[in-house]
Amino acid sequence: MRFPLDLDYEEWRKLCTEEWNEPSFRADQICGWLYAKRIFNFDEMTNLSMALRKKAEETFSSALPEAVRQVVSKRDGTAKFLWALQDAEQIESVLLTQEGRTTACISTQVGCPLGCVFCATGQSGFVRNLTCGEIVGQFLAMEKMQGGPIDNLVFMGMGEPFLNLDAFLKAVRILKHPKMRNFGSRRMTVSTAGIVPGILALAEANLGIRLAVSLHAPDDELRKKLMPVTQKYPMDQLLSAIRFYQEKTNDRVSIEYLLIGGVNDSPNHAKALAERLKGLKSFVNLIPWNSTGILYRKPAPVRIEQFRQVLLSKGIETEVRRERGEDIDAACGQLRRKEEGRNRPVSGTAQE
Ligand code: SF4
Repeated sequence: MRFPLDLDYEEWRKLCTEEWNEPSFRADQICGWLYAKRIFNFDEMTNLSMALRKKAEETFSSALPEAVRQVVSKRDGTAKFLWALQDAEQIESVLLTQEGRTTACISTQVGCPLGCVFCATGQSGFVRNLTCGEIVGQFLAMEKMQGGPIDNLVFMGMGEPFLNLDAFLKAVRILKHPKMRNFGSRRMTVSTAGIVPGILALAEANLGIRLAVSLHAPDDELRKKLMPVTQKYPMDQLLSAIRFYQEKTNDRVSIEYLLIGGVNDSPNHAKALAERLKGLKSFVNLIPWNSTGILYRKPAPVRIEQFRQVLLSKGIETEVRRERGEDIDAACGQLRRKEEGRNRPVSGTAQE
């Protein structure tokens, strides 16, 4: 069986005309149902003939991942979803609401091979890449569940998007295609742990989406301890790739920096980071570590402010990002890990 969200527009046209002997406008109709009306059951696509609906049903399996669990933060309304895929693997997505605007954060892999030491997903290991349809499906399933369009999308959930490059790029093309979801490319951001070939490929692909890079340290020695990917792509190489991306796109790049108490949060770290970012059009998101685990501690408020002030004094735009969904383990990988711990599926919606 095929999966309807794996097909791009050209593939739909080809299927309709060459395999099904239908006029090409059938592709527009089907894409309209899937992406604009969020109808995923071919039987409900009332402008298709009964014969075509039957053919489509015989060709495709269901379109969306199944919601295994949904938790909603009482504090800020952040919703976290755990989805079951057709092979029973589980992935997570998050839906944030801020000042009336919604942002979906979706996964690109089951697990992640990069093993960042602070990340629940990284500690669980890698299982497999998601298909393009499984990536797109998380977004459409959340739109269907909330009953309307989502405003922004970040590829920042479980996994490293640039290690699943083809499926990720195809998902972006499908979402932005005017006959499909027609989602503005400026409202999409991809976040990478620093996969240099992926940054270069994104620059060449000219898709118009935004780039965020997780640095979390100003030098290789410290970064290697936090993010083992640094061994393969040291910071000099990474920053060259970011500069190349910026030359090509003229886009400002977001730099994500997790502030961990006593590890990477000193004014000297801030100065070194500013030095690294010299000449780059960047915006630094400072994310104070906020877990209660024993491994790391939260940075002191005074350290956060000092760090921020050093960056500002060097002319680098920055803000401290308020942690959202703290009460529901919104950081990626935590819900899946918990669910694995429970070792049993839980259906329906849980308000926690
Ligand atoms: S932080 Fe991102 S890149 Fe690092 S292990 Fe977790 S999912 Fe992978």
